[in-house]
Order: sequence, then C-alpha cells, then structure tokens
Amino acid sequence: MFSYRHAFHAGNHADVLKHTVLLAVLRHMVQKDAALTVFDTHAGAGLYRLDGDYAQTSAEAAEGYLKLVASKPVEPIAPLLQDYLDLVAGFNKQGSHKVYPGSPFIIHQVIQERDRDKLKLFELHPTDTKTLTANIAQLEAGRQIAILREDGFEGVKKFLPPPSRRALLLCDPSYELKTDYGRVAAMVADSLQRFVTGTYAVWYPIIPRPEAHDLPKKLKTLANKAGKSWLGVTLTVKSSKLTQDDAGEVIRPGLPASGMFIINPPHTLKAGLQKAMPQMVELLKQDANATFTLESGG
Ligand code: SAM
Repeated sequence: MFSYRHAFHAGNHADVLKHTVLLAVLRHMVQKDAALTVFDTHAGAGLYRLDGDYAQTSAEAAEGYLKLVASKPVEPIAPLLQDYLDLVAGFNKQGSHKVYPGSPFIIHQVIQERDRDKLKLFELHPTDTKTLTANIAQLEAGRQIAILREDGFEGVKKFLPPPSRRALLLCDPSYELKTDYGRVAAMVADSLQRFVTGTYAVWYPIIPRPEAHDLPKKLKTLANKAGKSWLGVTLTVKSSKLTQDDAGEVIRPGLPASGMFIINPPHTLKAGLQKAMPQMVELLKQDANATFTLESGG
C-alpha cells in the first residue's frame, strides 16, 4: 500500500499554491447560478492538525501556511491571497493556526450554501478514507458530498459528463508512483473527450525527473489539441541543487517547487495571480532562487 500521507505535508508551500488557485477558480465558478459538480480525484483526509504528530515531524507548514501568517503583512495584500488566508483562518479560533483544511473542506466551504452543487471525493488509502469519512460526517452535508474509496483516475470516468454540465475536476495525486504522471495525462485526455467544457486543475511537483518535467507540456498539448484555453502557474521557493553538510553528507533540498495547470480556467484567474504570485514568492522564499512563472494560452 502507499506510504504517502498528506498529513506530513499539509499547509506546505505546495498547498499554499494549490489551495489559493483552487479557491480562486471555485469562487469564479459559483458566481453563476447553474449547478456545479466538483470532483477531487485524490482527496486525502480532508482536515489536518498543524500541531499534531504528523505535521510536527515534517514541519513543512512552517515553510508554507505558517510562514505566511507569521510574516509582516504586505500592503495591500493581493485579493486571492487574502481570500485564502481568511478561509483557512475561518477553521481556527482567532489567532491560532492549529487546523488546516484540505481540498475537500475548502471546496465544501465555497459550495455549502448551494444545495444544487455536488462534491465527489475519491480516496484510496484505507486510513485516509476512514479519517476523511469521519471528518466529512461532521459537516452534515448529506447527499451533497459523496466519498468513494476508489481509484480516482478511473472512478471519475463514470461521472463525465455530469448532469450539471458544469464541473471542476481537481487532480492532486501524491506522485509516489512514477506511473502517476502518465495516468494524470491519460485521465485528462479521456476526460476532455467525454466533457470538453469542464475545468481541469492539476497539481504537479517540479523535481528533477523526466516524467515531472514532461507533464505540464503534455497537458498543454492536450488543451491546445482540444482547442481549449489553459493557464500554468509555478512557485519555486528554493534551489533544487543538492548540497553537502560539514561531514560531506548529501542534503536533499526537499520539494523546491510545484505547479498548477488549469484547462478552461476562469478568465479572471491570470490577472488575480499576477498580483498574488509576487507576494507568495516574497513571503515564502527560502533562498535567492525563489520565483514564479505564469503563462496562458489557447
Ligand atoms: N487533495 C488533497 C488536498 O489538497 O488536501 C491532498 C491529496 S494527497 C496529495 C494525495 C492523496 O491521494 C493521498 O491521500 C493518497 O492516499 C491518495 N491516493 C493515492 N493514489 C490514489 C488513487 N489512485 N486514487 C485515489 N486516491 C489516491
């Protein structure tokens, strides 16, 4: 079974990028009255404690969400970043930062007042499925949220196109298996054939591995072939170079960068990110290599 547990990584810089973009996309999509279906193909546990054993072992939130809230506020803070900070703060008592919402809770927060919207969560890990089920039960969301203990890449197929004809699909695998990269591209290709007007948001790590390097290129090709617009955004917080400690031991840098690729993005997303990304870099940078990229097409 997989060993990846998102609880070790919750609130890290990759989550800041992913969840800021996810929230911005959703906020735009709920401006229309028509029903929306949201798919989260790799849901995780839904809610995380930043003061729990998992989070404290890796301390990744300290270089992500917690670093943002500890920094001197930049003025004026970009609306997308402020919205993300406010949403996460809403899960905590004033001034405390112990709870971090994963994608299922962020999505629910945005659609909860809209009974017509549906959220379908896929999670394969038995422990995370159990925790997710218990966390979601507290929301008393009834039939609005469905949890499927299935392979998200395959399981989503049967729901496309959704009856609502409006959907956002978030694909956020752990990439623990090298084959995940190819499966993401295959799932997006298949989904575009079934439902070309859906909005697709894929998170991916930027690491020195050919499959990781190729994934955004493949997604761009898929979007262009389908004649659909796309947006790619990346956040780098530090150098990816290996270093050595005093004893000559090689130190791996941990995750230095990640990206989000969106097909059929809201037309407002690029302008929003143009304001938010320089601030995200400024607040989360770990060395002089910190930067972002933002491109769009179609
Ligand atoms: N989307 C979550 C968030 O933003 O809060 C984090 C998800 S985490 C990066 C990836 C999750 O996918 C893990 O909980 C893992 O157990 C699960 N997983 C791995 N392979 C899967 C598959 N084929 N189908 C569904 N879930 C899978």
